Amino acid sequence: MDKHHQIVVVGGGNAGISLAARLRRWKVEDIAIVEPRDQHYFQPLFSHIGAGAARMAEAVRPQAKVMPQGVHWIRGAVTDVRQEESVVVLDGGDRVGYEHLVVCPGLQLDWDAIPGLAEAVASPHGSSNYDAELAPKTWDLVRGLRAGTAVFTQPPGPAKCAGAAQKIAYMACDYWREQGVLQDIKVHMVVPTPTVFGMPDVDKELERKINEYGITLWTSTTVASVNPEAQTLVLHASSGDQEVRYDLLHAVPPQSAPDWLKATSLPPSESSGGFVEVDPEILRHPRFPNVWSLGDAAGTRNSKSGGALRKQTKVLAKNLTAVLAGRAPDTRYNGYSVCPFTLSRHTAFFAEFDDQYRPKPSYPVLKMAKERRWQWVMDRWIFPQIYWHLILKGRA
Ligand SMILES: Cc1cc2nc3c(=O)[nH]c(=O)nc-3n(C[C@H](O)[C@H](O)[C@H](O)COP(=O)(O)OP(=O)(O)OC[C@H]3O[C@@H](n4cnc5c(N)ncnc54)[C@H](O)[C@@H]3O)c2cc1C
Repeated sequence: MDKHHQIVVVGGGNAGISLAARLRRWKVEDIAIVEPRDQHYFQPLFSHIGAGAARMAEAVRPQAKVMPQGVHWIRGAVTDVRQEESVVVLDGGDRVGYEHLVVCPGLQLDWDAIPGLAEAVASPHGSSNYDAELAPKTWDLVRGLRAGTAVFTQPPGPAKCAGAAQKIAYMACDYWREQGVLQDIKVHMVVPTPTVFGMPDVDKELERKINEYGITLWTSTTVASVNPEAQTLVLHASSGDQEVRYDLLHAVPPQSAPDWLKATSLPPSESSGGFVEVDPEILRHPRFPNVWSLGDAAGTRNSKSGGALRKQTKVLAKNLTAVLAGRAPDTRYNGYSVCPFTLSRHTAFFAEFDDQYRPKPSYPVLKMAKERRWQWVMDRWIFPQIYWHLILKGRA
């Protein structure tokens, strides 16, 4: 074996860095993070970049700068987990042994799941804020459109902050209204769910903006295929398949657990979607007590988001350190998640909910489920600072 560490963390994204930083603060000595990328992204800012309200430089830092002090960074990608040997295998063939393994490699973007989608977002009329390189292009397309048809799509299934597919639609409409061209642009928004979000209060607030902007909302609808040359997409709706022509397409791809993870023994079964099997409250693997997971790749029940994993980080860190100290893990994650909906380029509201989509407001007195200016300031300006200076340091 090439290396061995007490804790090996797979993935140095939001989850991996914040967990490792917290464990270091709590005096866990021997931690390694396996992470292939040189850059670390704060992905929630991608929505603002696509709307011309932030620059990419604000959303990216060198990975070396966010790596917590005292944590070993193993540059590479995990390709397999040999749980029977307590070893992960890296893309170069190296093997790293562990006492405890934390698996958090996020979600993979399945561009090929929809025929024509990859080509469409690479074409001059398509983009996606879900790709760091494309987010600035979204803004070029938004500010370049003065008339025609714009289509915004949200995929079915698990997604990184699913509501982020909608945020860009509202911010683009606000910009077009400001420019006095909104009445010349037909806007379609495609969602897979029977209502725009799935919670009555949240639906009400979003529908109010949808009516205000004159957006045509397609519910229970998915994208069947895209033809980038003809600039058309086929929508699979309950009323049957319909073709829509577009001048601007913002598409969010279907997402799933990484393929290499699906092929390991960590998911519960082949049909489970490939997420790491965990007790959804304790975040520990039920079959392999030295395996843990959090963030987008964990098989928890919550809607996946950075806000959800912020809560999971504390739970997992407490439970893992309890086990290291010979105690039973008894701290529980309550399924909390949050989606900050930017409703314009100046206002937002926070949908906070549990894994049954029941409201879970952090501060009921603040009534955060209503459109407000201060919530936009939080999302655009305050959260990025909290992320870089507190969350990634294991302090929030
Ligand atoms: C456009 C957009 C907007 C969003 N808006 C919000 C928002 O407003 N609020 C919110 O709370 N959340 C939001 N999110 C979601 C949030 O960014 C994710 O939920 C969060 O980043 C998940 O963290 P993670 O660590 O699980 O995955 P990631 O942060 O994606 O990190 C995964 C890491 O694992 C690494 N990795 C991948 N494969 C391997 C491998 N084989 N071996 C080793 N390492 C590997 C990757 O390189 C990456 O660094 C948004 C996401 C996007 C894309």
